[in-house]
This record gives sequence, C-alpha cells and structure tokens, in this order.
Amino acid sequence: MNANPNNSVCILGHNITYSRSPLIHNHWIAEYGVDSKYGICDLPAEKLSDFLSTIRNGKSAGCNVTTPYKETVIEHLDVVDDVASAIGSVNTIYRRDGLLRGTSTDGAGYIGHLEAMHPGWQLKGSKVLILGAGGAARSIAAALVQRGCSAIYIANRTLEKARDIAGLHPNTIIPVAWDDLQSTTGAVDLLVNTTSLGMVGRQPLLCPLETTRSDCIVSDIVYAPLETELLARARGLGRPVLDGLGMLLHQAVPGFQLWFGIQPAVTQELRTLVEQDLLSHG
Ligand code: NAP
Repeated sequence: MNANPNNSVCILGHNITYSRSPLIHNHWIAEYGVDSKYGICDLPAEKLSDFLSTIRNGKSAGCNVTTPYKETVIEHLDVVDDVASAIGSVNTIYRRDGLLRGTSTDGAGYIGHLEAMHPGWQLKGSKVLILGAGGAARSIAAALVQRGCSAIYIANRTLEKARDIAGLHPNTIIPVAWDDLQSTTGAVDLLVNTTSLGMVGRQPLLCPLETTRSDCIVSDIVYAPLETELLARARGLGRPVLDGLGMLLHQAVPGFQLWFGIQPAVTQELRTLVEQDLLSHG
C-alpha cells in the first residue's frame, strides 16, 4: 500500500549525514498502522519557505528540524510555543487550525527517559550539574527549571554561554567555570553531559566523578557510542547511569503524537532496533 502523501512527515535539515529519526518514526508508523511515511528532506535555505508551505497547506503532516535550521526556521512559523521561544530553537513542526506551529521536545525527551528509568525519582528540589551550554543544554535546563529543580549548575568551556542560559532563570541557574567542576560534582543529585565530548571520533569528557555522591545519577546525552567513557567510569564507581539513546527515543514521542494523535510507546523492541543501527553505522 502506498502511504498517503498528505500525511507524510520528515526530518528537515541540510547536509544531513545520517539520522535515526526515520527508523524510529517508521517503526511507530508500522506499529500503529498509520497511513504515512517518514523521510529525509535535505534542503538549502532558499527552499525552506516553499517546503514549509506544504505543511501549512495540508500536503504534509509536519516535520522534525535539525541542523542548521533549528533556530532560523522560527521566522517562518506562525506560532512558537513557550518551550521553544524560551530556548530560541524548534525541533518539531506541526499544523493546527491552518497555522504552522513549532515546539522543542529535547527537554521533555530527557525528562521522559529519566522518569521511565527512575520512576518516582524527585526532580522537584533536586540539584543538577549540566556540562555544556549548547542547544541541548538550553532545552534540558528549561525543562529542569519547569520541573522545580532547586539549583542547576551549568559548566561550559565558554563561560559566557553558560551565563547566557543562567540569564533565563537567574534564581535557579548558576554558571560555573569549566575549571571549577571539581567543586560542584559533590553537591548534585544528577549530572548530565550535553557537550559533544565523548562522541565517536571526539575527545573523551574528563569530568571528576570520584567526588560525586554514591546516589548521584550520571547521565550522558551522547548516544554514539551507546556507552560513553563517562558512563563506563560512573558505572565502575557504582553510580546509577542514564544513557543518551533513551532521550533520543523519548524526544520523538511528542512529534508523533502531534502529527497523528497517537502517543507511541518507547519499547525494548524499538530500542534494540536503534541500538543495532548504531552498532552497524557507528
Ligand atoms: P552544540 O549546540 O554545538 O553545543 C556543543 C557543546 O559542547 C558546547 O557547550 C561546547 O562548548 C561543548 N564542547 C564542544 N567541544 C568541546 C571541547 N573540546 N571541550 C569542552 N566543551 C566542548 O550541540 P548540541 O546540539 O547542544 O548537542 C550536544 C551533544 O548532544 C551532541 O553530541 C549531540 O549529538 C547530543 N544530542 C543528543 C540528543 C539526544 O536525543 N540524545 C539530543 C540533542 C543533542 P563551547 O560552548 O565552549 O563551544
């Protein structure tokens, strides 16, 4: 059966080398019997406007957005929700009442994974250390503030970027110089790496973990490799860990729900599918 082209979805970006989004969404499309297909739209900037008109005009259900358009796509949208406008970045576009709308699901994806793996864990009142101050850090910090964390320390090589994020919620977010990491690791309940350090082909992340508390959850949003050196060291010290693949799967859930009205499940079957793909493509 050919999929209904007016129901199609895709990931929009430029020079997309590889994306796991088609694998994840096409799995759910088959699982829930949705008449659609998820593809890749690799477009230069001058084609962005025409492409987005197809969603506004009902010829496509929506899209995900990746580099380099997560920020620049905002000017083409009719409505950007509070989450996306707070962080200045959109990764999911959908249509409602004829209007083109954008949101960002990275922060919700991180929290969805945390809650799935550590049910009942109290975010409210907890202290968190975020390493990195890029787009992903912004999304996760905003979601953590919303969930009532009492202190969020952000350490970044370029301190100015950590200060920028802290400016969004000065009572809760505290910028930390990269060289002062050691003094912060022992004070937190949750530590999350959002830098690209530790990715395949990149240098490892050198973060002191010995000083973390024995119950501090150590998490990494890098998912290639699945087990980063940071997670392996944390596991070796007996700390609870959280990997980046879970966030990748959970951040896809709201998009599918917005396009098709179905909340898809993040199952072990889906996780195994993406794990196998990561192992074969790196
Ligand atoms: P980004 O905006 O480019 O930010 C990159 C961050 O890494 C910045 O804080 C940067 O610090 C830091 N960094 C890079 N090289 C460094 C080095 N040599 N030493 C210290 N810090 C360094 O990227 P992003 O979009 O936030 O993504 C960051 C990572 O998260 C990527 O690996 C991405 O694949 C992953 N990610 C995963 C998911 C998921 O679903 N699991 C979702 C989104 C992103 P400076 O500011 O000093 O340059």
